[in-house]
Amino acid sequence: MSYFSLRQVSKTYGHTAAVTNFSLELEKGDFLSIVGASGSGKSTLLKIMAGLLVQDAGEVHLDGELILNPKHKLVSGYDEIKLIHQDYHLFPNSTVEENIARPLLHFEKDYGKVRVETLLKLLGLRDFKDRYPRQLSGGQQQKVAIAKALSVEPDLLLLDEPFSSLDTIQTHQLISELKELFLELGTTVIFVTHDLDDALRLTDNLLILQNGKTIQMGTSQELCENPKSKYVAQLFSPINLIPDRFNSYIRPSNVKLRSKGSILGHVEDSRFLVHFNSLQVRLKNGGDLWEVDDPLRKFKIGDRVYLQFDEDKVMVLKK
Ligand code: ADP
Repeated sequence: MSYFSLRQVSKTYGHTAAVTNFSLELEKGDFLSIVGASGSGKSTLLKIMAGLLVQDAGEVHLDGELILNPKHKLVSGYDEIKLIHQDYHLFPNSTVEENIARPLLHFEKDYGKVRVETLLKLLGLRDFKDRYPRQLSGGQQQKVAIAKALSVEPDLLLLDEPFSSLDTIQTHQLISELKELFLELGTTVIFVTHDLDDALRLTDNLLILQNGKTIQMGTSQELCENPKSKYVAQLFSPINLIPDRFNSYIRPSNVKLRSKGSILGHVEDSRFLVHFNSLQVRLKNGGDLWEVDDPLRKFKIGDRVYLQFDEDKVMVLKK
């Protein structure tokens, strides 16, 4: 049996199926991002994983033990499993150090002290240990919340869109710090987000959730290069439908711009997107609008351009 597993878990709210026959197996120390749009069932899944919500069917196991939900357990939730949301609850009248130490009150004093020291250091919070939460930035507060959750060495850490209240720079910085921290501590982590970019930064393994079901799981590279559906393909970049070839698509970065060739179009618009110089090209055949990359910024609005691609980059996708 794997370290953490969900078997055929389902949950309906009234007539809304939030999660349907969901199964997952993780080994100790695994990192997984679950990516899905709002309403795809991410929060429902995490609450079931944490033993905080009753599923209608299916089982959750952690380290050989069945996770009981609130219906079957006097005190809901587990110390071994920590769930972190965007609205982290820190004690306003306790310092950073006291907040992190609080879950350790029942532990041996020396152990608690060493553990708090370690977390303050790993998360770069040593200089802030005597401050109160209101004296910290959003990113720093989120770090304290994570340190607090990690203080009792949880077997499983569940992160539910924990960066939603932070700006992009803060999020990227926190993600790179957390990645190092989780690797060092060997924590098993499940991160749920609607933001593929955040998921790619934190983990190599992705599970794409749609309408409460897994639609594809694999490494980020596998999913980007071999998406099984249009939905998964479009998470990574826009895709262009190849004229006269039903269900065949090509990514902008795999289209070459030539002054001679087979597919002719006219540049309608050009956008500078930092990592990508996007051209909108209207195809002569069929009239579709393609998005392509012009890394050398050679083409201008109104230019004629021929588009070319390698057959092995073509993606045949179902709806
Ligand atoms: P996500 O976290 O991906 O946004 P949720 O798990 O919150 O998704 O919701 C999944 C589906 O279940 C949505 O259609 C949502 O409207 C519905 N839902 C969630 N919680 C409740 C609830 N308490 N009562 C009724 N419907 C709910």
